[in-house]
Amino acid sequence: MASERHVHVGAVQVGGGAPVAVQTMTKTETANLQATMDQIRTVADAGADIVRVAVPRDRDVEALKTIVEQSPIPIIADIHFNHTLALKAIDAGAHCIRLNPGNIGGPEKVAEVIAKAKQAGTPIRVGVNSGSLPAHLRDLEYSNPVDALVTAAVETVELMERLDFHDFKVSMKSTSVPNTIASNRLLSEKIPYPLHLGVTEAGTKWSGSLKSAVGLGTLLADGIGDTIRISLSTFHAEEEVKVAWEILKALKLRERGPVLIACPTCGRLQFDMDSVVVEVERRLEAYADPLEVSILGCAVNGIGEARHADFGITGAKDSGMIYSKGEPLKKVKTENLVDELFAEIDKYYEAGKVVVRDEAAAAEAAQWLAENEDEFAITPERIAAAEKAKAEEEAELASAMLKVDEDESPVAGRRFKRDGQAA
Ligand code: SF4
Repeated sequence: MASERHVHVGAVQVGGGAPVAVQTMTKTETANLQATMDQIRTVADAGADIVRVAVPRDRDVEALKTIVEQSPIPIIADIHFNHTLALKAIDAGAHCIRLNPGNIGGPEKVAEVIAKAKQAGTPIRVGVNSGSLPAHLRDLEYSNPVDALVTAAVETVELMERLDFHDFKVSMKSTSVPNTIASNRLLSEKIPYPLHLGVTEAGTKWSGSLKSAVGLGTLLADGIGDTIRISLSTFHAEEEVKVAWEILKALKLRERGPVLIACPTCGRLQFDMDSVVVEVERRLEAYADPLEVSILGCAVNGIGEARHADFGITGAKDSGMIYSKGEPLKKVKTENLVDELFAEIDKYYEAGKVVVRDEAAAAEAAQWLAENEDEFAITPERIAAAEKAKAEEEAELASAMLKVDEDESPVAGRRFKRDGQAA
């Protein structure tokens, strides 16, 4: 379950019950200071709490010092194979070092890096990857890849503990979603250290986002995972950050910016809702609050389904309606739906987060809604009315049965004789 221990990557706590930290990795050559800093600022604006940069060459580690000084968010130096780069990255002030002890050149070199990290107070992310497990686990990997991953991770943790080092988090990466889920579930029961979650080489924005949402979402819903990175094949690292946030927002683990809800559309749609959704999503990026905005393609089901939304729109062929918390606000022309929606949202903020209602406009909108609701649609209001009518009918029937007139009974005079009546 959720990790007991935590580390601090700069000012960001990871683990120990802290909010799940969003991280990503720059895709630039780290030594290209301008490009790397531009990307770091972009991902920070998109909501990254932490960013990792690759440090494969001396010129990258030279740039690292400036990057650490200028970055608005903590920097993790990503090191493979070369332990001297890890030592130099610690000297450069990296807020955390990522290394896989299995590929850094042997136990002495790992011990050297750990000693330096301990002295500098630099946390380490240690990890294992399904593609590079130690040789003694290859057979196990073939027969049981989950056990092999977990064994490798536990061995790494034991190595850190033998070095009397506890300032670390652990990642266990696999390209397989089921193996990612199973191995992290197992590992979370075995160690108290924070877990970094990710599905490695997840794929394109489309498939990688889905794989990550399924794999990481399942673990996060179980309370497992302290920081996440979505790996997507795109140069735009901010896309990884956006996907990470959508996963956290969907699970209500963290809040950031507005939440957009939109119906899937169907044959009842009579306006260009695709462009409306895209435009609303784009304009909502300017708002920081977790405002919930709903877009319904038609009013067939009323607006009951969107009664929790702070604001919403529903359209038809020529006109549509703006509503708030399930109550009509205003009828507008279809082409003005988006502008009018944002006018209402801005009025709400200007009034100190109070919905501003014009009763005449609201009445006109309610009238439009009544005319546009499908008379056969099963709205929540109609379900409630039908249930009430049925209950009343049943109550009437029950009371009628209590007042059976014996003269009208089908058995009257056949099974028994009343006093004074002929048999
Ligand atoms: S709200 Fe209307 S357009 Fe959207 S899916 Fe439902 S019935 Fe279809």
